[in-house]
Amino acid sequence: MALNAAPERTDLHSGTPYWLVRNGTDETYPVLATDIETEVVIIGGGITGALCAYHLCEAGLGVVVVDSRAIGTGSTCASTALLQYDIDLPLHDLAELIGLDRAVRSYHASADAVRNLLRIGERVGCELDQRPSIQVASKRSHVKALRREADLRKQHGFDVRFIPTEEEVRQCSPLIGPAALRSELGAQVDAWRLTHALHTRNTRSGAQVFAHSHVEHIDTSDTRPLLTTTRGHRIRAQYLIHAGGYETTDLLPRGTVALHSTYALVSEAGTLDQPWLDSALIWETAHPYLYMRSAPEGRIILGGRDESFRSPPLRDALLRKKTAALVKEFEERCAPLKLVPEFAWCGTFGETKDALPIIDQVRDDPRSFFALGMGGNGITFSLIAAEVIRDRILGHVHPAADLFTLDRW
Ligand SMILES: Cc1cc2nc3c(=O)[nH]c(=O)nc-3n(C[C@H](O)[C@H](O)[C@H](O)COP(=O)(O)OP(=O)(O)OC[C@H]3O[C@@H](n4cnc5c(N)ncnc54)[C@H](O)[C@@H]3O)c2cc1C
Repeated sequence: MALNAAPERTDLHSGTPYWLVRNGTDETYPVLATDIETEVVIIGGGITGALCAYHLCEAGLGVVVVDSRAIGTGSTCASTALLQYDIDLPLHDLAELIGLDRAVRSYHASADAVRNLLRIGERVGCELDQRPSIQVASKRSHVKALRREADLRKQHGFDVRFIPTEEEVRQCSPLIGPAALRSELGAQVDAWRLTHALHTRNTRSGAQVFAHSHVEHIDTSDTRPLLTTTRGHRIRAQYLIHAGGYETTDLLPRGTVALHSTYALVSEAGTLDQPWLDSALIWETAHPYLYMRSAPEGRIILGGRDESFRSPPLRDALLRKKTAALVKEFEERCAPLKLVPEFAWCGTFGETKDALPIIDQVRDDPRSFFALGMGGNGITFSLIAAEVIRDRILGHVHPAADLFTLDRW
């Protein structure tokens, strides 16, 4: 099987992702320069590959991670990294689409993932900031559905509160709206730093991580997958995990994933004298939605203005216009706050019809797996993928394993 061509650095994002500037790029990993054998090989060393490797190392398995780019410089460094259990589709809409039981289980799996990410961050020395998440009604006509969402979530054990008036919304959110839904569980992180903290810990446990090593061919005709890199080196493994992010969508049945371009910015330091109440993660009911979080030094991270992805050059050509539009929308809807962007970038993300990830074995190949987080919850979904696939390899069945398979549509 031939894989995607060796990528350009800017295929997944361009502009100036804040995290790369903030952290520098001095985390280096070797290039694969020999043939090797291992128990599990992971294609992709972003946050998904790093979390998969973490759980496999914890389980005592031998792991090799291989990435075409510098590690963490795919979508991971572009992520605004709001960690919300609230899935892009509200619970009541998801229930209509996939049934109440599966929808509630998906929401609970996502909530468990946020809690587990908090624990893992602490263990690997990259603590996440715990934050509530507030979803603001974009219009008066959205209020009824938001109240219904609050009731349904409460009924199924989620810690949420409906905020019924604009006056009360103003007290906790810079984004104004006629009502809001507050979820207590949420977090924010620097996804690039978490990725490297995971790889550091994993390599101490024996994992090997290779950068700038593009896998161009996979042979699964033998019982053990055989990967060949562009430089001609081979990796033989018992199991293979595809954690190649949105470039992996080429391997999925046509129409499984729709790609979107998305835009983000970070404001100048000192934009906020003091953070809004509880520094909550803020988003809204409109789709696509505007979202924001606070960042160190009084900065605001703002994102949205998504549109269908056509190509990296077309996505990038809109960066200046989209940045100006985000600022204008922020200043109109968050008045009297003003914002001057210091960093702006754009990226690509994938979305399935039910806004849920793809975590499954590759068709007719019980030794290869897809770990593909999707949508605005990409990172929490990455952790669910890491747990589900670890359990599959160890011969266990994860309670969420049936929710994210490829045959669910
Ligand atoms: C602007 C933006 C904002 C976002 N905000 C959020 C958010 O607030 N919350 C959230 O949860 N998610 C968010 N996401 C989504 C989240 O960032 C992604 O889901 C996540 O980063 C995906 O990580 P990954 O490791 O799967 O992919 P990547 O980071 O892209 O890593 C995949 C790696 O695989 C490598 N690769 C691919 N093919 C091969 C091959 N053949 N050989 C070797 N290597 C290969 C690539 O080089 C790449 O480095 C956002 C995304 C963007 C772009």
